[in-house]
Amino acid sequence: MTAPVILRIALPVPLRRLFDYLPPAGSDPASLQPGVRVRVPFGRQQLTGVLVEVQASSDIPLAKLRPAQAILDDEPPLPPLLFGLAQWAASYYQHPPGEVMAAVLPSALRDGSAQDWHQQRLWRATGADPGLLRQGSKQLALYQALQQGPLPRAAIAGAGFSPAVLKALADKGLAESFVPAAQPFASTDLLAETPLVLNEEQAVAVAAVVPGRFSATLLEGVTGSGKTEVYLQLIGKVLARGEQALVLVPEIGLTPQTVARFQRRFRCPVAVLHSGLAEGERYSAWRSAARGEAGIVIGTRSALFTPLAHSGIIIVDEEHDSSFKQQDGFRYSARDLAVLRAQRENVPVVLGSATPSLETLHNALQQRYEHLRLTQRAGQARAPLLEVIDTNRKVLTEGMSSELLTAMRDELARGNQVLVFLNRRGYAPAVVCADCRWQGICPHCSARLTVHRKTRQLRCHHCDYMEALPDHCPQCDSTRLEYVGIGTQRSEQFLAAQFAEYPVWRIDRDSMSRRHSLHSMLDEIQRGQPCLLVGTQMLAKGHHFPHVTLVAILDIDSGLFSADFRSAEKMGQLLEQVAGRAGRAEKPGKVLIQSRFAEHPLLQTLLRDGYQRLARLLLAERQAAGLPPYTYLALLRAEHADPQRARLLLREWGQVLQGLCDSGVHVAGPWPAMMEKRAGFYRFDLQVKSPSRSALQKTLARFCAYAETQKLPKDLRWSLDVDPAG
Ligand code: ADP
Ligand code: ZN
Ligand code: ZN
Repeated sequence: MTAPVILRIALPVPLRRLFDYLPPAGSDPASLQPGVRVRVPFGRQQLTGVLVEVQASSDIPLAKLRPAQAILDDEPPLPPLLFGLAQWAASYYQHPPGEVMAAVLPSALRDGSAQDWHQQRLWRATGADPGLLRQGSKQLALYQALQQGPLPRAAIAGAGFSPAVLKALADKGLAESFVPAAQPFASTDLLAETPLVLNEEQAVAVAAVVPGRFSATLLEGVTGSGKTEVYLQLIGKVLARGEQALVLVPEIGLTPQTVARFQRRFRCPVAVLHSGLAEGERYSAWRSAARGEAGIVIGTRSALFTPLAHSGIIIVDEEHDSSFKQQDGFRYSARDLAVLRAQRENVPVVLGSATPSLETLHNALQQRYEHLRLTQRAGQARAPLLEVIDTNRKVLTEGMSSELLTAMRDELARGNQVLVFLNRRGYAPAVVCADCRWQGICPHCSARLTVHRKTRQLRCHHCDYMEALPDHCPQCDSTRLEYVGIGTQRSEQFLAAQFAEYPVWRIDRDSMSRRHSLHSMLDEIQRGQPCLLVGTQMLAKGHHFPHVTLVAILDIDSGLFSADFRSAEKMGQLLEQVAGRAGRAEKPGKVLIQSRFAEHPLLQTLLRDGYQRLARLLLAERQAAGLPPYTYLALLRAEHADPQRARLLLREWGQVLQGLCDSGVHVAGPWPAMMEKRAGFYRFDLQVKSPSRSALQKTLARFCAYAETQKLPKDLRWSLDVDPAG
């Protein structure tokens, strides 16, 4: 008797385990490759899962196992290396493996349809002598059918031949399978435009990254230093070898302009992947990457899991950007996994930024990564001058000092453009009653409601709550309602009144939602007529404003004082990025920063010595405080509509965790999340911290095994965030 064959399958259910099934009746053992999709009965439903491994035994009695219904693929959609990476990620981020598989496959494949991601495997006659086959036998009939031309397995089955017949032919050496070659991009005559002549630092960088073997490199280059040109020339080297490039960009960095830059340079097809695509578009881009047809694949976070037929290089642009970390569900870091993927595929990975994350900078300073620097702005451009305007005890008009307004007026009069940055969209971030101090608070979140005057609404920026803007106080009926604080809409209105002779353009999420208007707006700005731009951090990424010579940062103080240990790093990055918008062309730029704490050491360091120096200072602080990247963190969160329920669960689980800790692992909390209430749920956190990644991992794995066995009411939710982005 032959040993039983047990299929271990990852199913899209929220459990950190695999499920055992028997193979479908009559299935060909050769079809049971890890990574293929399998349709199985699950309770009363049918689910599409992924085969993880085949085993000879199960903990469940054989008689109780159900057979799978069908193996859906001839070839696994994810090649073994990527499949292995996804499994590794499931275990590292402590996320249910079936949910991870569902997250990394394009949605077109999740329901069990679409099978044409690469050329289908075909069967053909070998040309050996079929003399041994009996006249009138099924085998001879199939052999003759295959002599007419190659057929896929499905067509063979459809013509009434069982897998056994095909197998017998193959065993006799009369039939064989093959995957027809896809149409890869042409690796000759690639250049559609002449590359720029590199400056010395760029040339060093391009030479330092060698295709064909793993290396991890931090490319630390100030804004406008020509990192993109370095990427392009590295990609050129890789394409010439017939290999593909994967480029990851931040969510708001994936603009048509970015994509166009890659398309202009090379003749090969460029596949673009982001969450805004329709399922079909996304799938066809994914497929052209998997088949090796696209030379370049550009995408946001989730593009990290795109299979490449011939992987050649991975580039993560603006690697410090927080959009590379998934904030819910499968909370992975695409940047960290990019390094791991490159290692497994034995290709170089380049992490580029003007303002590297402290994690990446630390890796470079520890010489775990190569460290390349671009210190000069490319071409003629000069770095902008930074100055602070001390607003302490100064009268501000709509958030602006008179010095700032004068500087803006001068700059506009010289025919230049001015950019005003502030981090709040809407008209005002709060509404308060002058008589009874009533405030507009979201009923579902611990957050103030933002005034949106154009649409006459109060809106929550943390959930989708909105209500009509009241014209009298809901508490005391007073009509003295005050709009407190400055949002982009308010600045826009004020500036339009102050500078009536110049156009004012607002760029934030509200104005961006009208897509075509954004395009004409950008075109208008590129023409170079004097104007004012007002916006949020959307201004700081992806867009180039060569005619802007003055950048005004209205308020930086919230970044100096915050409970989040990453806030100073974030502030430094944002400031440097916004500043980088100015003086990119031949016009030098100036940055004016308003602060009531002009003497703050972090701000002074940033002004005097730039982000580079600030980052090193912050690293020293992190080391002294025992924070990442010198330790590893995980956040265990519980959420419930009743704050007591969430807090109590974490008290109890904190005790459990203490008992499960490896030595050196430390548990702290519970305490309320940075934003305690959101969308109706109160959130509490436990922090788990360790100087050893593996000790933390082991502790968390043990804890998850425990937590999953706990029966919790449906409305009491918990989640674990490994390496939280803060
Ligand atoms: P980054 O990505 O570092 O912000 P970019 O690659 O966008 O910088 O380059 C900024 C500008 O400098 C672009 O207009 C680019 O065409 C130009 N540039 C880059 N490298 C060179 C070079 N070697 N010679 C001349 N101009 C260059
Ligand atoms: Zn009132
Ligand atoms: Zn809300």
